[in-house]
Amino acid sequence: MIDKPRTRFAPSPTGELHVGNARTALFNWMFARHWGGNLILRIEDTDESRSALSYQSNLLDDLKWLGLDWDEGPGKDGAYGPYKQSERLDIYSDHLKKLMDSDLVYPCYCTEEELDEERQTLILSKRMPRYMGKCRNLSDAEREALVAQGRKPSYRFKVPPTSIELNDLIRGPIKFEGESIGDFIIVRSNGMPAYNFAVVIDDHLMAITHVIRGEDHLSNTALQIMLYRAFGYEPPAFAHHCLILGKDHAKLSKRHGSVSVGEFRRRGFLPEALLNYLGLLGSSFTDGREIFSQSEMIEVFSLERASKSGAVFDEGKLRWLNAIYIRSLATDELIMRLQPFLHEFGFQPETLDPEWFKNVIEIVKDELTTLADIGGHIDLFFDDRYEISSDAKHILDTANARKVVQSFGEYLADATGSPQEIYIAAIKHAKEKSGVKGRDLYMPVRAALTGKITGPELDKVFVILGKDSACQRLKRADK
Ligand code: GLU
Repeated sequence: MIDKPRTRFAPSPTGELHVGNARTALFNWMFARHWGGNLILRIEDTDESRSALSYQSNLLDDLKWLGLDWDEGPGKDGAYGPYKQSERLDIYSDHLKKLMDSDLVYPCYCTEEELDEERQTLILSKRMPRYMGKCRNLSDAEREALVAQGRKPSYRFKVPPTSIELNDLIRGPIKFEGESIGDFIIVRSNGMPAYNFAVVIDDHLMAITHVIRGEDHLSNTALQIMLYRAFGYEPPAFAHHCLILGKDHAKLSKRHGSVSVGEFRRRGFLPEALLNYLGLLGSSFTDGREIFSQSEMIEVFSLERASKSGAVFDEGKLRWLNAIYIRSLATDELIMRLQPFLHEFGFQPETLDPEWFKNVIEIVKDELTTLADIGGHIDLFFDDRYEISSDAKHILDTANARKVVQSFGEYLADATGSPQEIYIAAIKHAKEKSGVKGRDLYMPVRAALTGKITGPELDKVFVILGKDSACQRLKRADK
């Protein structure tokens, strides 16, 4: 039993929300919701050169689109704000001062070039590249001379030569050797706090109880624990989940295909399907279940279930889930979600008869894998888009096919009754007149009516087209 945990998702707005980060958000959200706690959204925007406001608003949009809500953060005031690091700079300065006063920090005047040179020398002599402490013991006079050269200091933390132990909630006990870690920068020469410094201060001041993030942050965690100790703060519990990998088992990146939530959204994936897939990925459910609603995911979530080894992203599986979620949407809801995609394909759904259009969508619903597939499935119902494909032409290019199409058309000319009755009778008539049956009977009718050789059930298509449109099409196909 965990009593009201406080978790956080702390993205840096330096690009589109990666599915790996969305999964981190999801884990924190599920954990908080499962135990009746709170999720805090903190924007880590201290890297001014890489952070952009547009990324920030996209990020919030993507999280909302996924249905991941937060209890404190942008747009949700709480007792621990501000929730943007760029608005917390005074807090970091005060904390730097605290560490300076305890002599746990020193100014470092090394330039990028000097640091690079040191790194290269260490690599060449086959040693771990790290800062060797050149500025740790400078005298006051030496410092003054460097300042006189116009150098602006960064501030480094004096790493103690002790080991750091951590009991990770997913990975178990982990030990880091202090000796292998160089004094690290906590405040940059431009005055901005470094990630490890700001994150410790914020996680402590925001009373975070559980830090759940990707395993790529494990080495940072060692540094962060040193800072917790230096401040005399109790560290939160840590859980480092595995990363999402591509099929080649390398970290999922652009070269594997789509990686951002925005891309999947634009490609017509449903948030329910993406969220379900990300929740499934790298978690083991003993009963082999794969479809989970949000509330079911919250109910079954546990950190123990998260796998330690990387989870391979399989877009095929996501597509499969997406098709299931599309099928399960009520048709009116599906039509709403399809709006942007319909417009993209040049359809103007608002100008159509709603009942007729609903019937169209109902017929093609089961064939959609993504919302973006819609254009290619409904175009056959629009006379101005009717075109005979080369496959369909091929089917229509036999004497038997002509006979079928002609006799089917002949019947329509003065047929009466409901479209359903007319269709059945016309097929019967074509069969008798042409002497053709089975596939050879239906395929030419399909090819002529829809211009395609595959599609929804023909009787249903006919009902939607109606007699007049069908007649015109048969004429065009018979040329
Ligand atoms: N801003 C960091 C990132 O986006 C946060 C890492 C953390 O969760 O501590 O990677």
